[in-house]
Amino acid sequence: MSGNIKILGGGESGTGAALLAKTKGFNVFVSDSNFIKPKYKELLIKYAIPFEEGSHNKEIILSADEIIASPGIPENAEIIKLIRERGINIISEIEFAGRYTKAKKICITGSNGKTTTTLLTYHILKKAGLNVGLAGNVGNSFALQVAQNDYEYYVIELSSFQLDGMYKFKAEMGVLMNITPDHLDRYDYSFQKYIDSKFRILQNQTQDDYFIYCADDDVIIKEMEKHKIISKQIPFSLHKKFVQGAYIDDNQIIVNLTNNRFTMSIFELSLQGNHNAYNSMAAAIVASSLWIRKSVIRNSLSDFQGVEHRLEPVIKVRGIQFINDSKATNINSTWYAMETIPKPIIWIVGGVDKGNDYSMLMDSVKQKVKVIICLGKDNSKIHNAFDGVIKTIFDTTAMAEAVRTAYYHGQKGDNVLLSPACASFDLFQDYEDRGYQFKAAVREL
Ligand code: ADP
Repeated sequence: MSGNIKILGGGESGTGAALLAKTKGFNVFVSDSNFIKPKYKELLIKYAIPFEEGSHNKEIILSADEIIASPGIPENAEIIKLIRERGINIISEIEFAGRYTKAKKICITGSNGKTTTTLLTYHILKKAGLNVGLAGNVGNSFALQVAQNDYEYYVIELSSFQLDGMYKFKAEMGVLMNITPDHLDRYDYSFQKYIDSKFRILQNQTQDDYFIYCADDDVIIKEMEKHKIISKQIPFSLHKKFVQGAYIDDNQIIVNLTNNRFTMSIFELSLQGNHNAYNSMAAAIVASSLWIRKSVIRNSLSDFQGVEHRLEPVIKVRGIQFINDSKATNINSTWYAMETIPKPIIWIVGGVDKGNDYSMLMDSVKQKVKVIICLGKDNSKIHNAFDGVIKTIFDTTAMAEAVRTAYYHGQKGDNVLLSPACASFDLFQDYEDRGYQFKAAVREL
């Protein structure tokens, strides 16, 4: 194979794509408008792949036969507009790598729960002894693994941005967790465009493939009516029962598939809360469809270690439990946090608002929250929503201050919940930095 592939973005996915393209005999060039991390630069140098950083050389980029763009680059970036004008194909790293593997791809998407469900599914498959790789937004890039040690199965977390750059790729198993408004800034503020993007998970599926989805999500159900879906449809739900699908009955998870029934008590699940019941059901459907032994599925769902920054219990100080849910960057994930965590809650919230409608949280906040601690540069929307509803609301601008304020107002039996419902980059590098700073501040108390 020959041809010119230019890669935009020298991060995990870009570097992986570059290595794979090089291995396949393409003429490759990597361009990043920012700085490339040393570990990626070393890899590019090791494989003799030319790159630039700090700017895009338009002439070189526009000479490409095909472009692989990082999911982080928005459609309205100048360089993307130029490439589109020239009519050059832009694809995602996942699309590219998909061309070079025969593996079965289990792809997980949705607005919330992707990482948790991806890691949980991977955990089960790995424990079952399958030759499986973990890819997408977690771990090493899909392309790097295809280049270096291709697996028979992959569990891949897919964001809508990755799906946008996918055309021929097929998920042998597509899992759709939920669809709630998020990232609308990248979709011209059109919820439908974001829904369309998520539904690309169905692209190219045949009748041998699986579409696993949450039947309690009205957006998904309504959108499914518009599509002719030929793959096997396997729903999961907390409220309905299915001949084919997963549900909860009498505190048991039931997975019903043809000639294959799996049951397990919800009290044995390592991840608690309704949102996690969805995640566990989705993972259990995948595992049952692959005929993994029931004892392995059961053991894996009960010994899974949880994921950092997602409703992660930190420690108790003077009987006050601190919980790190820094990854809750939208209203829906905070809604589930409020549902899962018992009252009284001291709620640390705020950051960069992505168009939040706080009224969706009103009932839970009224029922459970005793103190609100705003942590962000602009807290006006939080005040507008909850002033007069919650008596005690504080404004803070640093994590240590927020944690100390929470501690000061807490009593034995309270839960201090960092579940910001907002992005983090006004005061922190990213949600992980925010979570680490929270944990460090709690340990200082
Ligand atoms: P994603 O990768 O889609 O962002 P994560 O697994 O990282 O999802 O979880 C993000 C946030 O959403 C966390 O606050 C977590 O507690 C919450 N969450 C996890 N699973 C779900 C779900 N199925 N529905 C709603 N919220 C969820």
